[in-house]
Amino acid sequence: MSKNIVIIGGGIVGLSSAYFLHKSGHQVTILDKAGISAGASFVNAGYITPSHIIPLASPGMIAKGLKWMFNSSSPFYMKPRWDPEFFKWAWYFHRSSTKDKVKKAIPVIKDINIMSRELFEAFRTSGELGDFQLEDKGLLMLYQSRKFGDHELEVAKKARFLGLEVYDLDHAALQKLEPHVKIDALGAVHYLCDRHTTPTEFMPKLVAYLESVGVKIKRHETVQEILAKQGSIQSVTTNSHIYTPDEVILAAGSWSGILAKKLGIKIPMQAGKGYRINIPRPTGITLPAILMETKVACTPMNGFTRFSGTMEFSGINTFIRKERVEAIAQSAQRYYTELEITEEEKAAAKSGLRPVSPDGLPYIGKSNNCDNLTFATGHAMMGWSLGPATGKLVSEVINGSPTSMDIGPFSPDRKFG
Ligand SMILES: Cc1cc2nc3c(=O)[nH]c(=O)nc-3n(C[C@H](O)[C@H](O)[C@H](O)COP(=O)(O)OP(=O)(O)OC[C@H]3O[C@@H](n4cnc5c(N)ncnc54)[C@H](O)[C@@H]3O)c2cc1C
Repeated sequence: MSKNIVIIGGGIVGLSSAYFLHKSGHQVTILDKAGISAGASFVNAGYITPSHIIPLASPGMIAKGLKWMFNSSSPFYMKPRWDPEFFKWAWYFHRSSTKDKVKKAIPVIKDINIMSRELFEAFRTSGELGDFQLEDKGLLMLYQSRKFGDHELEVAKKARFLGLEVYDLDHAALQKLEPHVKIDALGAVHYLCDRHTTPTEFMPKLVAYLESVGVKIKRHETVQEILAKQGSIQSVTTNSHIYTPDEVILAAGSWSGILAKKLGIKIPMQAGKGYRINIPRPTGITLPAILMETKVACTPMNGFTRFSGTMEFSGINTFIRKERVEAIAQSAQRYYTELEITEEEKAAAKSGLRPVSPDGLPYIGKSNNCDNLTFATGHAMMGWSLGPATGKLVSEVINGSPTSMDIGPFSPDRKFG
């Protein structure tokens, strides 16, 4: 039966949900407080990453966070502040960072990543969005020190065990693969299972397709109130309209926790700010790479090279800290020693907020507290990769059909304490 569905949020997750819900015959309206041209889904590194099998909440991360806490140019930064929500989230993060929990999360993360990678490929095969960059050159994890190299070789072993295609490269093999740019690294792990894209190309194409098939996209409409009676949403109120949908999808990225709270539903969530610098001139870089010691991502996109990184927990704001942009630029120049990033390129840096759950797994599915609300958020560092899979799972939830994978681990009602 065709339903009238409102999706809150027009990032990759909201748009992907709209794609699959429309395909199932529903009437879909997307509400977004911005213009669908900025934010996390536009500034990200564009990686599709079955290789990212280890969730952010893993042993050692809290210790690293504490070590870096007062250094605002470190890759992982928590701004010291009095915020009980953040303290609670940090406690849940700590509780999730055990070996046992990480072990359980690994196959789940792998499965949803593979599913999403296949859906990106299906988007391209369908031709519905026209042509877009989807490259299968894999992802390099570049390391300059033995310590980081040994750590990644251990992760690579686990990835191979899960059936992913992974290779170890020494410096000579690395330079042979990437001959047009000088790299200062001991070696790399090459995850051939990964793909990369240009988000600023893909997003407008998906928007154009959705609008061409009749999905309504309401830009600059901020959801202000959500009214529920007896566990069922009655209306969604924006700054200019009142909607009375049959079903609501909450895909508002880092703002989802605030909106869920209006219904009395608590989903622990923090915004993890990241930055990107674009270099719109030839760099010689042809392979995406994570610069391991500094946690910076490099992506050769369509028409430019992008460096992105940092995970900054400083609340919901898009304020650009110059020292963090500088740290990304320094890192890029440390590994690609002949590269120079100009002041102009640094000044044009942008930021985006990753919606980070405490255990590194997204929230996908319904809560027992509301029968016509479906969560689609909390993907942290993997939201770009997992957008399409999330959209498909959301459509299956709404259609009441069996889901393509077990979504139990993504339950918005799961406990962290
Ligand atoms: C620097 C950086 C690099 C990254 N690299 C990668 C990568 O390589 N691979 C990967 O998989 N992931 C990556 N990520 C993470 C990924 O970008 C995010 O997880 C993903 O974009 C989140 O998508 P989303 O649709 O959930 O949220 P968003 O893209 O944030 O979209 C949420 C939307 O909701 C709207 N909204 C919020 N509140 C309201 C309201 N009240 N009313 C109406 N609309 C509202 C916002 O305007 C926004 O458009 C990266 C992130 C960053 C910052």
